[in-house]
Amino acid sequence: MEKSDSEQRLQSRSIQPTAVRTMVLDYMIEQKAAVSLADLEDHFSRSDRTTLYRTLKTFLEHGLAHQIHDESGSAKYALCAENCTCSYPDDLHVHFYCSSCQNTFCFTELQIPSFNLPPKFQPDHGNFVITGRCANCAA
Ligand SMILES: [Zn+2]
Ligand SMILES: [Zn+2]
Ligand SMILES: [Zn+2]
Repeated sequence: MEKSDSEQRLQSRSIQPTAVRTMVLDYMIEQKAAVSLADLEDHFSRSDRTTLYRTLKTFLEHGLAHQIHDESGSAKYALCAENCTCSYPDDLHVHFYCSSCQNTFCFTELQIPSFNLPPKFQPDHGNFVITGRCANCAA
């Protein structure tokens, strides 16, 4: 059988393409906004929560996806660009959380500047979220 794009994408990140992982990746590719674990649970009601959570964790660990903490209180996950290594600050971009529809969007073309932190502060990650109303809700 020929490999799907998703299977190849998983393998390029050294992730074994199981049925669930392929399914979740396909779903995330279709979404315009970042997804939460609850979104996955709603959509894949026949899969158990632990499996879905582990799938997201695997995606994070292998740099296939990144995590966003917005004001919704639950972590969101979005797919990374092909060449993303999730390194600070090069791969950081602006996120926008819409407080009206509660969607979070990646603005990958808006890179976060590298800040001059006070001496001895060692950054590992960054999480840059702007809150407001998205184009849809503001219209
Ligand atoms: Zn990344
Ligand atoms: Zn909105
Ligand atoms: Zn993002």
